[in-house]
Amino acid sequence: MKITDLKCAIIGNSPVIRITTDEGIVGWGQVESSKPYLKPHVLFYKSYIVGEDPTDVERVMLRIRRLGGFKPWGSAVSAIEMALWDIAGKAAGLPVYKLLGGKVRDHVRVYNGGVRFPMQGQTPQDYAEDVAKQKAAPEGFSLIKQGIGFHGPMPVHVADFSYSTPLSGPPHPNRGLLTERGLKHIVECVEAMKAVLGDEVGLALDCGPGWTVPDAIRFAKAVEHLNLMWLEDLITGDYTPYTLADVYREVTRRSATPIHTGEQIYLRQNFKDLIERHAVHIIGPDPADIGGMAELKWVAEYADLHGILIAPHGILDGLIGLAALVQVCATLPHNFIAFEYPRPKEEWWYQIVDGLPSPIVQNSLIKVWDRPGLGVELNPDKAIPYLRDEDKDFFD
Ligand SMILES: [Mg+2]
Repeated sequence: MKITDLKCAIIGNSPVIRITTDEGIVGWGQVESSKPYLKPHVLFYKSYIVGEDPTDVERVMLRIRRLGGFKPWGSAVSAIEMALWDIAGKAAGLPVYKLLGGKVRDHVRVYNGGVRFPMQGQTPQDYAEDVAKQKAAPEGFSLIKQGIGFHGPMPVHVADFSYSTPLSGPPHPNRGLLTERGLKHIVECVEAMKAVLGDEVGLALDCGPGWTVPDAIRFAKAVEHLNLMWLEDLITGDYTPYTLADVYREVTRRSATPIHTGEQIYLRQNFKDLIERHAVHIIGPDPADIGGMAELKWVAEYADLHGILIAPHGILDGLIGLAALVQVCATLPHNFIAFEYPRPKEEWWYQIVDGLPSPIVQNSLIKVWDRPGLGVELNPDKAIPYLRDEDKDFFD
């Protein structure tokens, strides 16, 4: 089998990848909906993979894997990898999880990332009301993640929050030393959320990046009694093109609350320091950023050898990305906690992607499906109305 074409269309805001072959099998991949600007980057790889056998996934990946980087620049390579596995699975008549070693669980647990409600403000009451809505969601989430600290509007909306000048604009631009009032405000918001969730629903916090080491240690200690699931991206994280494993280690070795990072990291080589130095308790790679599904599987196994847990990121990965998450997470060792459930902003996605169960999530679990490949298909007839003018030949 040979790859005949690599196409990319921006649907909604997501770059969607379609790889075609000389045997008529088509593979799908998807990039985060926050990255519509990556289309030219996806197409950059076309000349390197056309003519290759897509079922030799690793041999194709060796041609393009070096030509990527930390978030957002690993996304195109990662989504191409998903599409290759989709083709390989369809060619073999097997779901992708069989090709990645077989499933170790029939249901995969998700945590809430994607089911969100507009927040009225930044007070403890606002946070309590927000997680009450998430707790009541029909998906029955057993684990909820909330943004606080430098991850969200707190630095701009809470007076005298830190000793730095608040910035807005690019993703998560703030960092610096918190004021005593700023730290107390965060702790009060966390306590208010825990009062709602109790011990029924786990609470994880997306915190940064941008914290100083003393604040991170003080905060981890201040919330120790609340048994949080994890503190994410305190030091580096989202859109940080490095990891600072030694700095994380300073925080992690003094924290009984699990410390988590890794959604922006590309490739196993860049997880090496974090894992081998035991710099965090939990890693959170995204299959659409790390370099693909097999790369995530490898890193999960290596983390497990070192006593490190994994909770993959995925909030913006869309419905094809959801299928990739289900397939790979079914194969992960028992260090797997849950992956972040993506939910597209536009409801019509559920009409244009075939193959998902309904409802998708029950009691915070998704049943692993058995159709060949990723097991989902973009329906051309239903998707064509959502194509932009420049993408009208996407299904040709
Ligand atoms: Mg995050």
